[in-house]
Amino acid sequence: MNEQRKYIVNIQCNQCGERFILKGRVKKGKIETGFKKCLCDNEDEFEISQEELI
Ligand SMILES: [Zn+2]
Repeated sequence: MNEQRKYIVNIQCNQCGERFILKGRVKKGKIETGFKKCLCDNEDEFEISQEELI
């Protein structure tokens, strides 16, 4: 992944179904969004997809 690019990250909680759309950047091969956990306190059960911002 290109570290210069920005990404739109879609996160869907597998527990409550809440969706979050965040902007992220790649750091050390991972996308950083600052997202920590869902409103329902779920911290690791997510469906995540990302697309590159052009
Ligand atoms: Zn949730």
